[in-house]
Amino acid sequence: MLSYLSTRGDVTNKNFTDVLLSGLASDGGLFIPSSHPDLDTNRLRSFQGLSYAQIAMQVIKPFVNNDIDDDVLAALIADTYSADNFDHDAIAPLVQIGPNAWILELFHGPTFSFKDYAMQLLGKLFDHVLEQRGQRITIVGATSGDTGSAAIEACKNCKNIDIFILHPEGRTSDVQRKQMTSVDSPNVHNIALKGTFDDCQAFVKDLFADTKTAEKIGLSAVNSINWARIMAQTVYYAAASAALGAPDRSVSFAVPTGNFGNVYAAWTAKQAGLPIEKLVIGTNRNDILTRFFETGRMQVGSVEPSLSPSMDIQVSSNFERYLCHLMQHDYTSLKKMMNSFKTEKTFNISNDLMDAARHDFRAYRCTDEQTTDMIGTTYASTGYTIDPHTAVALHAATQVLPSDPSTPIVTLACAHPAKFPDAVKKATGVAPAMPEKLAAVMDMKEHFTVLDNDYDKVRDFIVSESSAA
Ligand SMILES: *Cc1c(COP(=O)(O)O)cnc(C)c1O
Repeated sequence: MLSYLSTRGDVTNKNFTDVLLSGLASDGGLFIPSSHPDLDTNRLRSFQGLSYAQIAMQVIKPFVNNDIDDDVLAALIADTYSADNFDHDAIAPLVQIGPNAWILELFHGPTFSFKDYAMQLLGKLFDHVLEQRGQRITIVGATSGDTGSAAIEACKNCKNIDIFILHPEGRTSDVQRKQMTSVDSPNVHNIALKGTFDDCQAFVKDLFADTKTAEKIGLSAVNSINWARIMAQTVYYAAASAALGAPDRSVSFAVPTGNFGNVYAAWTAKQAGLPIEKLVIGTNRNDILTRFFETGRMQVGSVEPSLSPSMDIQVSSNFERYLCHLMQHDYTSLKKMMNSFKTEKTFNISNDLMDAARHDFRAYRCTDEQTTDMIGTTYASTGYTIDPHTAVALHAATQVLPSDPSTPIVTLACAHPAKFPDAVKKATGVAPAMPEKLAAVMDMKEHFTVLDNDYDKVRDFIVSESSAA
């Protein structure tokens, strides 16, 4: 029976809904499944011709493992991956840009980034489970980019959730802020903090540490370490593989990577039997992962701004999940490494393990200049417009192509180019076409509360506005 355990080994035998609601394990680790479901050849073959929602049900069901009734789960999934939420019938369409080169478009959800693909389902799963348990929760998060708007869109109609998203006043892009603040729903609370993104994040952490308040409001999070987000992301790898001929043909994927969530979902799909040949990681100048694969040493640097801001990250939280597998669940050593990483900002792994890791992944960095070049040359040679995050992944994909021309390589397009109009226009000379819905957001009334950079004021505001308190 599939259950869930913590990467630190002190929490075991949890069921799916517990893992969904708790996010992080109580020993400080991340939840992983005790085994991987088996997508055997016959099942993979049956995916050909199925809708995205039908494939999603097949892929997700074993992970949920009867914790939610099949008919309820199927209805939640069908509701999520529908024409109401996504503006393309295929949900995650493939576009061919070369003989064996494809783009997987993951920007057809309500906020035009791939985060919608998991977050939309998460909102519905949360609401269903909370309803059943007669529980209410308060989700609090900090954002500088895509996560905040995806979380707000996912929760705005949830009866049992209040959501508070903090952003630094005057320090987000207009598009990104308006995607959050244009949502007019009584359970959605945007806070513009008179501070920086780091202040926002520190207050969220303070709130979790303030256990009395946390308990009172039923504090929860939908950040990228929630297992259910990984689970939901495995679906588009299966759908893309099926469309390109799985189980009879293998494909490779190139993934723009920050927190290691998305590429870990690809690895999970491979563990479950999906015929994936190579997993290619693209990083920008914040290249902690690329340096790791070069040297065997994980070493935190300082975060530098880049053209692909959603990957301006130095700590790839989800990597611990892969490390647990790589170290064959040697919890004692893993705990030591994670402690060293926390205090010394570094850890090393042995050459043997590095060989295994390099077998699973390869990683390439992409400078801002190379990002701009990639957007420009792709547009010039194919007429297709990519965003800067996609460019980082496509750059990585071109590094592996020559060694293996017979396997299709699929590059993930994780954001719509219109979310980054300046970078795209600079590279192509043409402003990207703005989807109607994104353009409409720019003229809508904004809803937010400005708060001083003061923890007590933020806490008091959240407690007074949350209906769970
Ligand atoms: C969040 C994000 C990423 C990074 O994804 P991870 O799962 O953190 O590796 C890449 N590109 C875009 C556009 C994003 O929004």
